[in-house]
Amino acid sequence: MARITSIQDHYMREALKQARKALKLGEVPIGCVIVHQGKIIGRGYNRRNTDKSTLSHAEITAIKKASKVIGDWRLEECTLYVTLEPCQMCAGAIVQARIPQVVMGCMNPKAGCAGSILNILDMKEFNHQVDTVKGVLEQECSDILKEFFTDLRIRNKAEKEARKANIILDKPEGNL
Ligand SMILES: [Zn+2]
Repeated sequence: MARITSIQDHYMREALKQARKALKLGEVPIGCVIVHQGKIIGRGYNRRNTDKSTLSHAEITAIKKASKVIGDWRLEECTLYVTLEPCQMCAGAIVQARIPQVVMGCMNPKAGCAGSILNILDMKEFNHQVDTVKGVLEQECSDILKEFFTDLRIRNKAEKEARKANIILDKPEGNL
């Protein structure tokens, strides 16, 4: 595991900006940027519900954009920054794209496949292994998720109560 540097903080802030775009759409706030020779060549944020597509994860979108810029499916000199530990699909795509390094904000114990449930990024059986850095701006990356899920719980509770109120209001009069 490599050392955390201020450059990594800088690019993770850019990934957090992407996560905030997801938050604005009411999506789980996850953001990603891909850096090549000091330049961001791909950005992405979670749009799974908006696009109604399981493929619309932040990392997949950023990989697609970076490949377009580089003109190759191989992203061999790139570093991928993501606010949350990648899932099995994205970790697989990262290995397939031959990305050498992934920098992560917070981990995802329930679904992460870069060390939590399993580590697709570092399996000697595959032909490519990815260097990983964990915990860059971990607090900010985890706070934005917590904020989203707290709001969601409040919204769900309010909706439930509104529904209950409607049921009572809808009861025909004279039944009591
Ligand atoms: Zn994913």
